[in-house]
Amino acid sequence: MKKYILFLSIFSSIVACAQTKKSTTTKENEKPKLVVGIVIDQMRYDYIYRFWNKFGNDGFKKLVNQGFFCKNTNFNYVPTYTGPGHASIYTGTTPSVHGIIANDWYDKKTAKNLYCAEDNKVTGVGTTAKEGKRSPANMLTTTITDELRISSNMKSKVIGIALKDRSAILPAGHTANAAYWFDGSIGSFISSTFYMNELPAYVQEFNKKELAKKYLSQSWNTLLPITEYTESVADDNKYEFVAKGETKPVFPHNLPNLYEKNGGLGMIRSTPFGNTLTKDFAMEIIKSENLGKENATDFLAISFSSPDYIGHLYGPNSVEQEDNYLRLDKDLAELIKFIETQVGQGNSLIFLTADHAAPEVPAYLMDLKIPAGYVNENKLEKDVKKYLAANYGDSLLLSYSNQQLFLNRQLIETKKLVLQQIQEDVANFVQKAENVSEVLTATTLNNTQFTEGARYLMQKGYHANRSGDVLVNYAPGYVDFPHYGTTHGSPYSYDTHVPLIFYGWNIKQGSTTEDINITDIAATLAMILNIQFPNGCTGKPIQSVVK
Ligand SMILES: [Zn+2]
Repeated sequence: MKKYILFLSIFSSIVACAQTKKSTTTKENEKPKLVVGIVIDQMRYDYIYRFWNKFGNDGFKKLVNQGFFCKNTNFNYVPTYTGPGHASIYTGTTPSVHGIIANDWYDKKTAKNLYCAEDNKVTGVGTTAKEGKRSPANMLTTTITDELRISSNMKSKVIGIALKDRSAILPAGHTANAAYWFDGSIGSFISSTFYMNELPAYVQEFNKKELAKKYLSQSWNTLLPITEYTESVADDNKYEFVAKGETKPVFPHNLPNLYEKNGGLGMIRSTPFGNTLTKDFAMEIIKSENLGKENATDFLAISFSSPDYIGHLYGPNSVEQEDNYLRLDKDLAELIKFIETQVGQGNSLIFLTADHAAPEVPAYLMDLKIPAGYVNENKLEKDVKKYLAANYGDSLLLSYSNQQLFLNRQLIETKKLVLQQIQEDVANFVQKAENVSEVLTATTLNNTQFTEGARYLMQKGYHANRSGDVLVNYAPGYVDFPHYGTTHGSPYSYDTHVPLIFYGWNIKQGSTTEDINITDIAATLAMILNIQFPNGCTGKPIQSVVK
């Protein structure tokens, strides 16, 4: 009897060993069929919990409950804007390396403003508007989506979509099959000759449905009875934008009466129906492109732009933003269900994050007696010009944009002045201005290595060839913006702290409060997919996410 047990136990351990080996080998070669990246434009980490009790079970809650929630994920540079945000998520590095230093910036080479996704070498497809002249050419490194394409010998399909062009184009990378964004003047999704010469038939068919017009033909009312929006301030308050054709910023927003007066079909952007339209198009792409149905892993990069427009107009504490998130939750639920039905349960890997967060409306904080307020950048710029003219006989300032001062280096050289000295003088002058905190010169950033705090984040957002001569940071709570709605861009946690959730293929269930940088996402995806890191990647894989 003993012998028999011994034999059995040896036998079973051999079987177990063989099984382990077999499953390890299979697993090593396995990949998800489809990766879906979801970026929410302007989503704060705390929204997950603020709206938790009102979310359904199949949207945000499903991702959190069944996936892995990285609760302490932050952007690790400034400025926390949309263009740099999307580029950093997908390149796994910061503006100091990928070069997308802002949404648009003063271009030292051409002495003109350059938009981050602008490319005059290409033309629009499906549009004649200048918004068609777009590509990722200004982004200097590869994305995780590029690396997926290269690793699969171009067999993986990669497509990016969003209402905002930069949010579709930068995530999809340089080698994407397609990127589509929204042209509000015609109410259609468009692309550029960087990707194709003609819109695919299914995209043309989708555009013909005129969904933007259809969604704008109904009023935007609250999803729940308005008395239930207890997480938000009163609907009628002085911290919100009032649309043309309205007398108060209150529900219901009569969209059929409003949209002609407020930017035409483009107005869908600042309603939750912008998310619904994006979701509709994402589902159409998954279906028509047969994403996740071939051997190679496909990648769909989606960005929901509407929360950002709504945040800018109404602020984080508005009934409008709460309602937007409750509706987005429903759109997400539908999208997740659709993905899993199309490619099979467990075959897709979804991650959800945001390109930046946002502060409370400063005017609201001021009324709460919390230090906050408004910086007048126009005045600051004028003061710097006056100071330079008085001391050097010339204004010497070409631009003050994205909190960076660009000096006229050519004129400084002609006048045989010392650039470093002028940078220092300007920095000392700006430092004395009200509500300015850190001020750093380009020379300091080139010679010093900062390791923490706002100076570190400013350095990670500083690109030696593209950035200005003096970089300025304001005090916490201070922005240059109208006194309604909110904006973002600072190194403070209200702008940097965003949700990050992984869900699906090979992802553990759980959460972590460990310190995670936004640049870790691409590195984590590279490890999961067993492919090269993007070529400028500075992030590290999040160990705890994977099974
Ligand atoms: Zn954004």
